[in-house]
Amino acid sequence: MTMFGAVEAGGTKFVCAVGSASGGSLRTTAIPTRDPDTTFADIAGFFRQAGELGPLAGVGLASFGPIGLDPAAPTYGHILATTKPGWEGTNMVARLRDLVDVPVALDTDVNAAALAEVERSAEAIRNLAYVTIGTGIGVGLVVDGRTVKGFGHPEVGHALVRRHPAHGDFPGTCRFHGDCLEGLAAGPAVAAAWPSSGQSFAPDHPFWAVESDYIAQLCMTLILTSSPERIVLGGGVMQQEALFPLIRARTLELLGGYVHGRSDMETMERLIVPPVCNEPPGLVGAYLLAEHQ
Ligand code: ADP
Ligand code: ZN
Repeated sequence: MTMFGAVEAGGTKFVCAVGSASGGSLRTTAIPTRDPDTTFADIAGFFRQAGELGPLAGVGLASFGPIGLDPAAPTYGHILATTKPGWEGTNMVARLRDLVDVPVALDTDVNAAALAEVERSAEAIRNLAYVTIGTGIGVGLVVDGRTVKGFGHPEVGHALVRRHPAHGDFPGTCRFHGDCLEGLAAGPAVAAAWPSSGQSFAPDHPFWAVESDYIAQLCMTLILTSSPERIVLGGGVMQQEALFPLIRARTLELLGGYVHGRSDMETMERLIVPPVCNEPPGLVGAYLLAEHQ
């Protein structure tokens, strides 16, 4: 079996593994994200030890963003404007390539997750949106089998949305935009809007209507812009599984029967779904990046 390396770089942890997308991981580790030097020293340790399993044919890096994806630009592989202390300007690709000495293929964590969900889908599909609603809101897009990378990468997690009246004058938590989608609906926004609720919300709590409305607005925008065959919703906030039927119903309502083939609940149940990957989808996606380069 040809062996590849996979790195899913996240704000709280880096998951590193060796193996392949189809064969799974032979060895894997989770390294807590600290400053870049300390973190990459631990990543180097993992790949040095994993060397005993055999040589790597390449490594895939599925990284948190924003990150430069244009191979022709000087910022390729660099972390761009971020709130993560010490990481802005870090050249993720160069640092990883120095450790492993094989080609490194890069995409965002959510684009890689979208690729993985396409690969693992029971039906043959070529258009999929992967959304994570966690510390932030990230969106990865596969259109006609390829991840969307233009000047940068999709940032629709920061799209502007219509505010829900039950949110009152909640200002939003996005450092850049205040009440963009991420500022209103990511985990920290939920915690800030309803600090006394923790993570358990009574059935009549406004959280359900507010959160599902914002996510449904995102689903509508995704349907209108890239016509996905599937919208996968993951991340910490989506552990509240009762959101799924609410989001499907609200998306239908917002679309108002306008989009052909997207106007009944049965379709919504197949369209808006949780992830199917057992392993973190970003890690599976990182293998796919390495294998396709
Ligand atoms: P990250 O985005 O850092 O990768 P997660 O996807 O686990 O991490 O998301 C973490 C965020 O999700 C936190 O803001 C947390 O408050 C929120 N969260 C985690 N679990 C739940 C839950 N069961 N219900 C609501 N929010 C949750
Ligand atoms: Zn924002």
